[in-house]
Parts: sequence; C-alpha cells; structure tokens
Amino acid sequence: MSQEQQAVERARKAFLTGRSKPLEYRIRQLKNLQRLFVEKQKEIADAVKKDLNKSEVGTQLYETLGLESEINLAVKKVKEWAAPRPVEKNLLTISDTVYIQPEPLGVVLIIGAWNYPWAVTIQPLIGAIAAGNAAVVKPSEVCVHTSKVMADLLPIYIDKELYPVVTGGVPETQELLRQRFDHIFYTGNCAVGKLIMEAAAKHLTPVTLELGGKSPCYIDKNCDLSIACRRVAWGKYTNCGQTCIAPDYILCEASIQDRVIEEVKKSIKNFYTDDPKTCSDYGRIINQRHFKRVLALTEDSTIAVGGDHDESDCYIAPTVLRDVKPDAKVMQEEIFGPLLPILPVNGLDDAIKYINRGEKPLALYIFTPDDKVIKRMIEETSSGGVLANDCLVHYSVNALPFGGVGNSGMGCYHGKYSFDQLSHLRACLIKKLNMEGVNDMRYPPHTPKKLGWARFFLLSNPDLGWMGRMALLAALVVVAAVVLQKYFL
Ligand code: NAD
Repeated sequence: MSQEQQAVERARKAFLTGRSKPLEYRIRQLKNLQRLFVEKQKEIADAVKKDLNKSEVGTQLYETLGLESEINLAVKKVKEWAAPRPVEKNLLTISDTVYIQPEPLGVVLIIGAWNYPWAVTIQPLIGAIAAGNAAVVKPSEVCVHTSKVMADLLPIYIDKELYPVVTGGVPETQELLRQRFDHIFYTGNCAVGKLIMEAAAKHLTPVTLELGGKSPCYIDKNCDLSIACRRVAWGKYTNCGQTCIAPDYILCEASIQDRVIEEVKKSIKNFYTDDPKTCSDYGRIINQRHFKRVLALTEDSTIAVGGDHDESDCYIAPTVLRDVKPDAKVMQEEIFGPLLPILPVNGLDDAIKYINRGEKPLALYIFTPDDKVIKRMIEETSSGGVLANDCLVHYSVNALPFGGVGNSGMGCYHGKYSFDQLSHLRACLIKKLNMEGVNDMRYPPHTPKKLGWARFFLLSNPDLGWMGRMALLAALVVVAAVVLQKYFL
C-alpha cells in the first residue's frame, strides 16, 4: 500500500471513530493550530524567506495573520454555524420541524499552491476542521522549505491521524487523487484544475477549485492617480507579482498613461527603494522555470519602468510595460510575476468590452470616484470578486465569499463560507404521525377536489407573522377535522 493510500486510510479510520465531530474537539484543534502560528513563527518565516524571499514581517502580514483571524472567527462562531438552521415553512409544513443540519462530509483532500503556501493550504484546513471533517493536507512541493516545515509542525500541534500531511510532487498528488475523498479542495492553475476535476469525477467527489487568471484593473481618468497607482503598485508587486488576485494589467485611456507610469514608478521607489534587489520587502520569483516564463512575456512589449533581472537570483525588477497590444505575449496568460502591462482603451465602454472578451477573472479592480462607473462595471461584467479603489484586500474580509467563476474557479471559502463549503447541508423535515386528514389530498384516488386543496396548500404563500402562523395552525386543525369527518368518519 502506498504512503498516500495509508494516510487516506488512517484519516478515514480516524474520521469513523467520530472524534472530529464534537464541537469541543474541533475548537481544541483550532486553538492548537493557532498556537502553532504563535510558537513557530520563526521556523515558518525562515522557510518562507528561503522559498520566496519574504521578510519575517511580510510572512506574518500576508500569510499567518489572516489565518489567525480566520481561526479566531471559527472558534467564536463554530457553535452557531454547526447548529440546526430553521427554515421558512409553508402551509404544508406549518406544524412540522423544518431545518438544515450541517454535517461533516468525511475526508477532505486539500491541495495547496506555492505562492502563499501557508495561507492557501491552511485556510481550507481551518474550514475542514471547523466543519468536523478529516483532511489530508498536500502542500505544494514547489515551495520546498515550507512544505517540509508544514509536514514537521502540523502533526505536533493537531491530530496527526485526522489531519495528516502528505508531501511530494506530481506523482504523489496523482496517487492521492486515485483515492476516494468526500471533497477535494484545490488551489493552483487552471490546467491542473481540470485534471483534479477529472480525477474527482471517477468517485463523484465534489471539488472546490481556487484557480487564477488575468484580473483586470480599470483606472478612470478622473481619479486621484497618485493614490490609485500606489494601491495598484502594492497589489501588483507584493510577493513579486505572484498573487492569484494581483491586478494582472491596467486598462486606461491613452491620455493618462504617462501619468500612470510616473505614479507607479514613484510608488515602486517608495516601497522598494531605488534598488529593489537589495530591499528586504521585495520578493523573488519562485524558481528558474517561472523566471524564464515571466521574462519571456516581456519580449514583444515596450518596457517603461524596470526590466532588469538576474537569473541566478530569480530576480525580476518591478516592471511596467506601456502601449501593450491585446495580442502581446504578456496578454495571453496570467502573468504571475512583477510585470504590469498598460493597455490603452477608449474609456469605460471599451474597457468593459475588452474584459468581457476574456475568461471570467478571479478579481476585477476599478479605480474611480464615480459610483456610476463602479455600478456599470459590476453590472456589465463578471468575476469572482470586485474591488473598487483598492487591491487585494477583499481577500481579508471573511464575511465575503472568496472564489472564482468560470475559468477562475468554482466554489468559495473564507469564514462561514469555508464551513458551508466543507459541510453537507442536510435537509431535515420532522413530522408527527398526526394530522393525517391533511395528507388525504395526496393519496389516491386523485380527484379534482383534492387537487384544488393541493393547489391551495402549495401555491398560497402568505407572509405570516408568529400570530398569523398560530391562527393558520388553528384553521388547519379545523380543516383537518372537517376533512377527516368528511372522508373517514
Ligand atoms: P503548484 O505548481 O504548486 O501546483 C498546485 C498543486 O497542484 C501542487 O500541490 C502540486 O503538487 C499539484 N500538481 C501540480 N501538477 C499536478 C498534476 N499534473 N497532477 C496533480 N497535481 C498536480 O501551483 P501553481 O499551479 O503554479 O500555482 C499558481 C496558480 O495558482 C496561479 O494560476 C494562481 O493564480 C493560482 N492560485 C489561485 C489561488 C486562489 O485562491 N484562487 C491562490 C493561489 C494561487
């Protein structure tokens, strides 16, 4: 039996003991996980530094702070999330108990990506634990150091049978995918997303796919360009552009292009000094393969800012490309690197047309002081999320669902959405063995009269308050009594 198979079997066996289900157990595991982020910050940061050249503060800011906040929320709310959720009743169910009971799915497979290796791998795990599941955690092998630290640390803090870590690359992931899971939560690129879905289909396993794509950023000519460009530059160059929701490219009118370039340039200097290569807050491309891929994207475009690079260090300077054409190489795929192409357009209509010609993006950014422009952009396009006048920060609002649409993914998570995504929302209808007279309308022999009653019960949908419901209940009892008398007594 392969190592991967063993891990899945152990997780399932542990799940079947039922110990992941009690709320106290879930909360204890979540608190243990929280302790990991407090006690092992140094190990975590050292590994992320080696993988992506993130600073220690940067790792806390972009990786673990959000996880701590997510754990806090789950610990506080899990009782409420896991409780039965009463639903609205209709005339037929007025005297019944009708509710949704969230229940754990079973064993979840979590496949993480390398760009925010803790954030994108542990965030779904928090949801899985809160929802009472077992989870097999597969961090990305591309972030070599982090994946090892995660495999070393998680079993020290949380139940290692219920939540095992499996490390390895494509063959190991493929072996995992041959196993049967109750849900697969994948973060990564679209091409592999399709393979995940194919593998999941063999077992009819539901999937959440957190994918990427080209997230557009429209800058209106009437906005404060200094503020807008600072926010865009932060969104783009954080983690060296390797952020799934980074603004991929700018759409703006040609008349403001030079000012946009100047403002982005100013922000680059403010954030990363004159020499980003020596700045501790400027990251590196994850590996040489991606370095070569990103650099090749600049080939047929004009560099306005940056452009210098060093292959031995996987360094590419924060770069702006100007007058980029839609058929340029950089516009054919998600950049996932520190290149910011500017595509001149003829205003909002043109920008909307351009966006709608492409796949539905994960994020869509609009910079404008005009609410009407924001409204039009929201109404006339589609994307996983929309953020006006800022970048990235919608990710940190755990009251908002985070996820893609179309090519940028399916399913969503964060906060309660993670809990729901990794739960089965079980429909529960609890009736009593009385009021049989009311049921007569559905029993043969079927007659027009009974149909008339059925139409009344199913189609009238009065908006009743508590008093109204009580009055109706009383009326129903009378109707039931009449029906009983008429047909049975
Ligand atoms: P990656 O190379 O780390 O791959 C992700 C996972 O898929 C890894 O665990 C890897 O082992 C596995 N994998 C790779 N090839 C496989 C194969 N052939 N069969 C089975 N498993 C395989 O990460 P990546 O895909 O380079 O990540 C970058 C992409 O992820 C970007 O497109 C980015 O936008 C997207 N992303 C999305 C989100 C989000 O929340 N939507 C977050 C981060 C990254």
